[in-house]
Amino acid sequence: MQPSERVRQYIAQTMGPEGVRIAEALLTRKEATDSELAEELGEKPSHIRKVLYDLYEARIAEYHKEKDKETGWLTFYWQINPQHASAHILDRARKDLDKLTKALEYEENHEFFVCPEGAERFDFARATESDFHCPAHGKILEQHDNRNELEQLRQRVAALKREAETAS
Ligand SMILES: [Zn+2]
Repeated sequence: MQPSERVRQYIAQTMGPEGVRIAEALLTRKEATDSELAEELGEKPSHIRKVLYDLYEARIAEYHKEKDKETGWLTFYWQINPQHASAHILDRARKDLDKLTKALEYEENHEFFVCPEGAERFDFARATESDFHCPAHGKILEQHDNRNELEQLRQRVAALKREAETAS
């Protein structure tokens, strides 16, 4: 996948159409100020700034600022560098994959129990501590079939692995 394609896909998944619209406007230029984008898209600068900061927080957009020597006024120049953004997205995907793989291993190697009255899960150690009774309801804990949790984790791990592989 091309870096710019990965960036577009990521923005669409995490920020929705408004993030995409503003990112597209930025991707077609080398850089732009919030007021330039506001004018081009027919939006208030405050709205553009909010979305730009969201893109910045997600490490997709970058900026540099310049100070007017006479007025002291700061102007922010925004840009999206697809290579930088793509590298951050992949880095995050690898960290998520690491966490999910550990969660999956834990899920595969442990037994779980649930209270018939509630949704809370207990692992074996915690169930033993309360002598297999729910501390909140006093009910005897039942063995929990974690097939669904395992299936969900396996799917997410597989999706992240595909993402990491298409990058290399
Ligand atoms: Zn309970």
